[in-house]
Amino acid sequence: MIAHAPSHHPAYTKGMSSSEPSIFSKIVSREIPANIVMENDRLIAFWDIAPKAPVHLLVVPKTQEYANVAELAAGDPQLLAELVGMAQELANEHANGEFRLVFNSGATAGQTVFHVHAHVLTGGLDEGSLGG
Ligand code: AMP
Repeated sequence: MIAHAPSHHPAYTKGMSSSEPSIFSKIVSREIPANIVMENDRLIAFWDIAPKAPVHLLVVPKTQEYANVAELAAGDPQLLAELVGMAQELANEHANGEFRLVFNSGATAGQTVFHVHAHVLTGGLDEGSLGG
């Protein structure tokens, strides 16, 4: 058993959940608070604590088995499709239905939480704000 290996660590074995719950797993279990706006049996959505857009929500699979979107796409494409569907529902509810979906994949791409999650950004965005 790997005591503290984060899910992106080379020693991490896919399919074997890390012994440490991620910050998002702690939100799922209500161990830490979040402003939750939507939830079903497989997904949870809540406001990002440090918003980068007028509407900035995170959509997160409840399982922490997948560290990033490529792992999720390979391991459970149906769940990825459900995640995109929830992003659309959130954009319908909190904006005009249009949205930007961002998955940071890897530390040099800005990923800080290695439990796959989508950023749903909307509410009035500039094309020029992409990347940087
Ligand atoms: P990333 O950098 O793509 O891994 O995204 C992680 C996101 O999680 C960042 O935008 C953080 O602001 C957000 N975040 C971290 N902790 C929390 C929290 N406790 N509640 C809500 N959002 C969080």
